[in-house]
Amino acid sequence: MSSVRPWRDIARRQSRQIMVGKLPVGGDAPISVQTMTNTLTSDAKATIDQIRRCEDAGADIIRVSCPDVESTAAFKQIARAARVPLVADIHFHYKRALEAADAGAACLRINPGNIGGSDRVAEVVRAAKANGCAIRIGVNAGSLEKDLLEKYGEPCPEALVESALDHIKLLQDHDFHEYKVAVKASDVFLAVSAYMALADAVDCPLHLGITEAGGLIGGTVKSAIGMGNLLWAGIGDTIRVSLSAEPEEEVRVGYEILKSLGLRTRGVRVVSCPSCARQGFDVIRTVSALEQRLSHIKTPISLSVLGCVVNGPGEARETDIGLTGGGNGKHMVYLSGVTDHVINSEEMLDHIVGLVEAKAAEMEAAEAAKEAAE
Ligand code: SF4
Repeated sequence: MSSVRPWRDIARRQSRQIMVGKLPVGGDAPISVQTMTNTLTSDAKATIDQIRRCEDAGADIIRVSCPDVESTAAFKQIARAARVPLVADIHFHYKRALEAADAGAACLRINPGNIGGSDRVAEVVRAAKANGCAIRIGVNAGSLEKDLLEKYGEPCPEALVESALDHIKLLQDHDFHEYKVAVKASDVFLAVSAYMALADAVDCPLHLGITEAGGLIGGTVKSAIGMGNLLWAGIGDTIRVSLSAEPEEEVRVGYEILKSLGLRTRGVRVVSCPSCARQGFDVIRTVSALEQRLSHIKTPISLSVLGCVVNGPGEARETDIGLTGGGNGKHMVYLSGVTDHVINSEEMLDHIVGLVEAKAAEMEAAEAAKEAAE
């Protein structure tokens, strides 16, 4: 179910669009979701397997670390196997950037001010242009340049923005404009203030992140608060949730943040009860099982799973498929917001999975027919 409501609208900052491989970033392009592999890049098979899992979870862009020549040597095979554009993460060594650009990187994550002089920047820019690579400048509060730390005394929004502008200038001086920028910090206030100031100062796409945010729960909350604030203000063209968790989890959390703000739609959006004694069935276990069994669905569908009729019918009215717990093990199923039929506790799980899968297939067929007619 969808509806147009002005109080839900987010006016996105109009950034300049760049291409990361075949994927547009910025402008009116959908906000892309990124993650980063944690396998040894030199182990091409393990890295490709992980990339596949991230792609299945919906990653639009995946970053792969290139700390050594063994990694950039494996990068070619990895880039050939990947279905989404890859970003080569370069630490300081500009030669790794040249190798990664030649090996099929769609983007280089490198800070031009940190690679040892204008000649090297020129070489990296030449390789990026020759191979159609974008560049991502990644300023991080934890690794700010010494002169900026001395000038400002500590990492602060002004220092992060000044660092970003310095790196940007180096690319612009070499007539390179296919870049996006991040000013990350693990402190939510610092990151949000820096991004807000940067959004006013530049027109390029911004890559959002609350860096080293923490574990799955703590990091999700921090990321949702920090990135959520920025996205709500219209800032951000691509995001990475940084979690001490598997990269697929970062992708899932990234989508949940975007879905909660109506900025992306993907898969099943579940509305469900918190723990509550009024539930007519075990909502927690049911939702957990449904999330697992429906994780393969990519078509946007909303599903409400409510334990009783206090809020059940109201939520069901707003979702594609609804379930409301009743007495005696009998529960009401709603289709397109309207009461439709009753289901028993024993059959409930398989039944709802079947309904969601059928709805997804119906929507996909309608979409395919529409595309064929155009
Ligand atoms: S809908 Fe019912 S079961 Fe669910 S939280 Fe509200 S009162 Fe509790």
